[in-house]
Amino acid sequence: MAESIEKPIGVTAKATRPQEFYDNIKRKFAEERDLRLNYRPEGTAQYTSDLTGALSRYEVDPYSSAVAPREPINDTVEVLFIGGGFSALLTSARLRERGVESIRIVERGSDVGGTWYWNRYPGAACDVVAYDYLPLLDELDYVPKDHYARGPEIFAHCQAIAKKYNLYELATFQTTVTSTEWDPVERMWNIATDRGDRMKARFVICANGTLSKPKLAKIKGLETFKGHSFHTSRWDYAYTKPDLSGLEDKVVGIIGTGATAVQAVPGLGAAAKELYVFQRTPSSIDVRDDWPTDPNWARRLPQGWQARRRARARMEPQLTEEQRARQAALSSEEKVRRQENANIEAMMKIHRRIDQIVKDKATAEALKPWYMLLCKRPCFHNDYLPTFNRHNVHLVDTKGKGITEITEKGPVFEGKQYELDVLIYATGFEVQKTGIYNQIKGEDGLQLNDKYREGIRTLLGIHTQGYPNLFIMGGYQASFQFNLTDMLQAQGDHIAACIEYARSHEIKAIDAKPDSEEWWVQEVIRHRGKTTRNQDCTPGYYNFEGEFQRRQDGNYNGGFFQYCRHLTDVHARMEDHFVFIK
Ligand code: NDP
Repeated sequence: MAESIEKPIGVTAKATRPQEFYDNIKRKFAEERDLRLNYRPEGTAQYTSDLTGALSRYEVDPYSSAVAPREPINDTVEVLFIGGGFSALLTSARLRERGVESIRIVERGSDVGGTWYWNRYPGAACDVVAYDYLPLLDELDYVPKDHYARGPEIFAHCQAIAKKYNLYELATFQTTVTSTEWDPVERMWNIATDRGDRMKARFVICANGTLSKPKLAKIKGLETFKGHSFHTSRWDYAYTKPDLSGLEDKVVGIIGTGATAVQAVPGLGAAAKELYVFQRTPSSIDVRDDWPTDPNWARRLPQGWQARRRARARMEPQLTEEQRARQAALSSEEKVRRQENANIEAMMKIHRRIDQIVKDKATAEALKPWYMLLCKRPCFHNDYLPTFNRHNVHLVDTKGKGITEITEKGPVFEGKQYELDVLIYATGFEVQKTGIYNQIKGEDGLQLNDKYREGIRTLLGIHTQGYPNLFIMGGYQASFQFNLTDMLQAQGDHIAACIEYARSHEIKAIDAKPDSEEWWVQEVIRHRGKTTRNQDCTPGYYNFEGEFQRRQDGNYNGGFFQYCRHLTDVHARMEDHFVFIK
């Protein structure tokens, strides 16, 4: 089958009904949102990612053997990455191409891969077309096996990148950075870890991911459950067995119905004696248009084919003269209204699909999401909805309330006790705290957390003034792109170019100028808050569970194309944007 770049989701649906129809649905969306906000006024505080004490077992790495003792490391490298996922791998490749030899990855897991190291739950796969998502395909001369790649292939690709660019040599695994402090005299970062290491690095890159720390809902009695339980990002295959045959005689429960659960539920439904899916808000589930890569198509791919695809993703959307004129004639209110109507049509299509697939009418109704398209991450799966037609699979719809109590036997909802052997938490991850985790102290000894207290301040989401030679990847004030690796690649290219600039000009430290930082903060503010979308959406991690957000505390919404243009412009005028210390 021929392959093409996918269209943006949902924006093409035609809205042809009377406005009253859309307004009524918007009212229903608002009711459903308010219901949830009233149940959980505490916002993000409903979750905990402090997995210590009785909860520490939810964060233990089940994929590697016990941490082997080693001597602390006290050396100096040129570039040090905190985290070993795609951010580090992509940027390292660009640094190697520029002749940087001394690169160290410090990683909590026992291998590279980041998200793809941790998320090994059954059915794990990526919803972005593999030919775009998997990075460095030209460089590794690799074509993914299918239109959408599965977890093991992506993890293996991460390992292949690390091998090709010789990143294992200096990497330290099963190691967590505990503090990162700038030494203004030596113009070096001092990095301490939980293994007693005291490393130095000229450049530090925060590559610790946007959704990397598992979180649990704070549910009364959670720690009293006597059965087996784990988080989806720490899948216990020793218990379930790799083919899930260990669940054959087990009653299994899963809490959460986000993108992870949507992929895990079909396998669980097929393997478990009984499966209870505890739902608070349903996901939107569209068709997953997957196919094995056509070997003839793969063979004919010219050199540099992926670079060209990536370049297309960075291009300005092309409009004809007529389209441009039509757009210009519309007021901004009318543009928003049309977009919302189209999004509602897309959601109604999702509803119709549920009616067509799910046989039990009450279950079908309960699976219908009532919120605007993209308020939550859209999901794509062909087996999730049919799983609810199985006699052994039961949807426990908590109608927005969620599970609020767990006893030693299992969850309780509306007075009913669900007795389980296994309880799986598909409750997600702490969101986009990259750059704020690791006790980062800059020039004046100020913690980055403290600097950000009055609002996040960065240049391009990558640099922050007072923290020389520090680069943040995938953090706040950067652009958002459905294909995250497009964004990370754009940032990685920029960071490698900055480091090359410093090396070639014999500069020891580069720091963002206050004016440039202020310019970017204002750019972020200018593009955010143009609509009331965040407030209108049902709570979820996209809108910080409905919490108030300062306009500067989020992504840059000016579009990926504009973001890439700013990256290029900043690089072209380095002297205007940075202070250099020789
Ligand atoms: P999410 O944060 O998206 O989902 C957490 C789920 O837990 C939600 O359904 C939430 O309900 C539910 N929940 C929380 N507390 C309770 C409770 N007390 N009772 C019942 N349900 C509860 O986490 P995921 O791990 O699913 O996904 C995280 C992200 O990871 C995705 O959005 C995506 O970015 C990425 N990902 C991508 C995949 C892909 O490419 N296909 C696959 C998997 C993950 P509510 O909605 O009401 O808040």
